[in-house]
Amino acid sequence: MPKMSGHCLCGNVSYTVSADPVITAICHCDTCQRQTGSAYSLVVGVPRESLAVSGSTLASFQTTTEATGTPTQRQFCSNCGSPLATLPEALPALAIIKAGTLDDRKGLAPAVEVHCDSALAYLAEESSERQRFPADLPAG
Ligand SMILES: [Zn+2]
Ligand SMILES: [Zn+2]
Repeated sequence: MPKMSGHCLCGNVSYTVSADPVITAICHCDTCQRQTGSAYSLVVGVPRESLAVSGSTLASFQTTTEATGTPTQRQFCSNCGSPLATLPEALPALAIIKAGTLDDRKGLAPAVEVHCDSALAYLAEESSERQRFPADLPAG
């Protein structure tokens, strides 16, 4: 039994996750804003080997992670355009799932916010119980 499952808007691309999530976070980075067309991404980090993605229209767009200069694969559905998962080379043990594509997401609660330096002003001013980091999570 998968722990989590999800799919894109059109349903061509679906995935399962066989392990528990590592972290749930809000990402304010410029790339996430542009990729989603929204103010930020709500993401769930899972062990990369636990993620199985399938579907004939699975595509990937490569971006460069600013802090490390390393490539990041951003998987999406080429039929409907939904972003699904992000695979940064700098974090090889992790797959980052766009939480809006999960089948069961109502109970998700982000623990941290990252790339707060790029956050929209109205979000930057919001008081929050969450830990906020100006860029990536500190190493370790
Ligand atoms: Zn699709
Ligand atoms: Zn981001």
